[in-house]
Amino acid sequence: MGKSSKDKRDAYYRLAKEQGWRARSAFKLLQLDEEFNLFEGVTRVVDLCAAPGSWSQVLSRVLIKGEKIGRAGWEDKQAREKLELHGQTTTSRHEQETRQQLQPRENVKIVAIDLQPMSPLEGIVTMRADITHPSTIPLLLKALDPDTFDPTSVQASHPVDLVISDGAPDVTGLHDLDTYVQSQLLWAALNLALCVLKPGGKFVAKIFRGKDVDLLYAQLKIVFERVRVAKPRSSRASSVEAFVVCTGFRPPKGFKASLENPLGAGTQLQVPEDMEVEKTQPSRTLRPDGITELELGSEDEEDSKDIRWIAPFLACGDLSAYDADASYHLPKDHVVLDPVQPPTAPPYRKALEMRKAAGGAYGKTKLG
Ligand code: SAM
Repeated sequence: MGKSSKDKRDAYYRLAKEQGWRARSAFKLLQLDEEFNLFEGVTRVVDLCAAPGSWSQVLSRVLIKGEKIGRAGWEDKQAREKLELHGQTTTSRHEQETRQQLQPRENVKIVAIDLQPMSPLEGIVTMRADITHPSTIPLLLKALDPDTFDPTSVQASHPVDLVISDGAPDVTGLHDLDTYVQSQLLWAALNLALCVLKPGGKFVAKIFRGKDVDLLYAQLKIVFERVRVAKPRSSRASSVEAFVVCTGFRPPKGFKASLENPLGAGTQLQVPEDMEVEKTQPSRTLRPDGITELELGSEDEEDSKDIRWIAPFLACGDLSAYDADASYHLPKDHVVLDPVQPPTAPPYRKALEMRKAAGGAYGKTKLG
């Protein structure tokens, strides 16, 4: 597929390049913030699975530079339509924004982590590490507070206001496998968040809504006051992707998070006696046609160990914003821009090199 057809197909892909974002995912975080005011009172943030870095760019612009970005992907559309009506070209919203008054915050600390190398961003510490590995936590705490970090009190250190995770494995196209690997990344992000969040802290993470997601919601509901599932307008409706937005971190009494013995499908927290949690426990019945039916649990099931809970679901982002699944008309003079930050070490690089060495796509030498 050529560059221009991709531009036409995906408004957010095009908009990201116009506004200088490294990836279209920036709009997902901006639209989540529109709905949940994620950055309110936040100065210390960990961005997990951060490469190529568009979420870190949002953090940098909102927290470090103090920009007010607001209704993502909406004003551009309005401005574009208005000006195109009058035969003019549009001003990008980035230009409009720079005219706004800046309100930078003090003592902002942001650490971005990914398996892949990430091009530097001003004011952000970037680390190449695996979020599933226990050794990442002390590295992260040291990066946040290099002068006061004490390796002997890692367990007692909870200095983070917000943990965000957009983790995704390389998609294989095998739905069940992709959902499973993504859920493992999500549990890893949650366990890491539990180790570093301040009481009252927030956790936002990408999920693929699949089997057993209600089990995850129930675990989240034990450790956070408020748990919501959100689908930003910039996330394609056709994808199973959504985001959990958890606020008010409240570790149960005596709870010690650890990556050595992490929470997950095998290890679960039980609802503490003194905690009020809505115990909605759907029971499952597998129909002969392969569809699993969920039924809300009865009172008798309240003591079941396998507690499930359905989180409220919200669509977010202004309804007037671009629809991620729609195709939009592009003006004849539309210029296709290059990506803001091409991948630094894409896994397909070796394949491209091999193909080139073999004389291109139709070379005589077969790969592999
Ligand atoms: N939020 C990013 C942005 O706005 O640019 C996009 C993230 S991308 C969808 C998913 C990232 O997850 C990839 O860069 C991948 O390397 C990273 N990832 C996957 N598994 C990981 C792991 N175990 N530890 C750290 N990063 C991981």
